[in-house]
Amino acid sequence: MPGDEDYYAILAVPRGADPEEIKKAYRRAAMKFHPDRNPGDKAAEERFKKCAEAYEVLSDPDKRARYDQFGVAGLRGAGVHDWQHSDIQDIFSFFGQDFFGLGDLFGGFAGGRAGPRPGQSLRVLIDVKLEEVLKGVTRTVQVKRRELCEKCGGSGSASGRRETCRTCRGQGRVQHGGGFFRVVTDCPACRGAGSTIADPCKECHSQRFVIRQRTIEMQVPAGIEDGQRIRYGGQGDAGEPGGPRGDLYAEIRIESHPFFERHGRDLLCQVPVSFTQAALGAQVEVPTLEGKEPMAVTRGTQSGDLYRLRGKGLPELDGRGRGDLLVQMVVEIPKKLTSHQEELLREFTKTEHKGVLPQRESFLEKLAGYLRQENAEDKKKP
Ligand SMILES: [Zn+2]
Ligand SMILES: [Zn+2]
Repeated sequence: MPGDEDYYAILAVPRGADPEEIKKAYRRAAMKFHPDRNPGDKAAEERFKKCAEAYEVLSDPDKRARYDQFGVAGLRGAGVHDWQHSDIQDIFSFFGQDFFGLGDLFGGFAGGRAGPRPGQSLRVLIDVKLEEVLKGVTRTVQVKRRELCEKCGGSGSASGRRETCRTCRGQGRVQHGGGFFRVVTDCPACRGAGSTIADPCKECHSQRFVIRQRTIEMQVPAGIEDGQRIRYGGQGDAGEPGGPRGDLYAEIRIESHPFFERHGRDLLCQVPVSFTQAALGAQVEVPTLEGKEPMAVTRGTQSGDLYRLRGKGLPELDGRGRGDLLVQMVVEIPKKLTSHQEELLREFTKTEHKGVLPQRESFLEKLAGYLRQENAEDKKKP
C-alpha cells in the first residue's frame, strides 16, 4: 500500500544522490534483507520489497522526477511494479541476476521455478470522487508495461539463430576454484542455456522485451472504498514466451469532499442553521451527492443534533442498497445585531429572567470589568 513513503530514506541515500550511489545503496540493502539471509523473516522480506520499489522509482529519471515533485501521488499511472505482491524471484528477473553480481549467493533463485517465468504485476493509483462512488466510473489510464519484442517474438535474435556458448562450450555450467572447494554454477554468459544469440535483434538489443505505453480502461465499481485494490488479470507485464502475463492492480483513493465525510456507507454532513431557525423550526436545504434536498428542522433543535436522510448515502460494493445521509446541525449565533434585532432580543430576555450585560457599556466600564476579572483570576492561583 503506497503511503507517502520516503524512498530516499528507505535506501538511506541523500535526496541529491546520483544514480551510481543509488545503485550501490540498493545492492547493499538487497544483500542485507535478502530472504536467503533472513529465512522466515517476514519483516526482512517486506523491507527487501520496499527497497526494490524505492530503487525502481529512483533509478528511473522520469519516475524519480515525478516522485521528487509530487511524492508517491506523482507516480500515478507511471506503471510502478507491484512489488508487495511479487515473488522474490521476480525481483531478480526484473533487475537481472547480473545486476546483483551475486551469482553464487543467489544462485538458488536462478532456476528455482519450472516453466517460463510469468510477467510482473503493475500498479496504478486512481483518484475517485465521492460522487463517482455512487454510480461507479470508468477511468482511462496510461500504463508503461513490458511486452515481448514484436520483432523477434521474444527470442532476442534477429533470425532465431543461436550459437554454442563460448564461455561454457555449451555445457551451461561453469566451475570455480579448485581442490576441495570446487563450485559449479550456471554459466553467466548464457545463463545456463549453453547457447547464445548469434545475431541480436535490433529492436530490443537482444533484451527480448520492450517497454510500451498502453491505454487501459478500468471499471471502478460503485461503493468502492478508499485503499481498496481492483485486480485486472493479465494486464501487467508480458511473461517469458509461453508464460502468463502479470496482473494490473488499481489502488483506489477517494478524494476528500467539501461537504461530506464518509463513514462506511453513510455520509455525514454539517449544516449551519441560525439560532432562530433552530428554536422555531424551519425548512432548510441540505446538500446531497445528487444535488440538494429539502429538510425540516424541528422546533428546539440543538447544535450537534443529527438528522437522518434515509437512502441518501453510498451503495454497498455489490451496488445494492444505500446508506444514509446524516445531517448534523450547527447552530450559529449572530456576531452582529442591528439595533432593531437587539431591541427584540432584549425584549425576549425579559421573559427568561436571566441576567445579560447592560446595553451601552462604555469602553472604560468594559476595561474596568476586564481588570477586575484578571485580578480575581490571579487570586485564585496558589
Ligand atoms: Zn527483439
Ligand atoms: Zn554458457
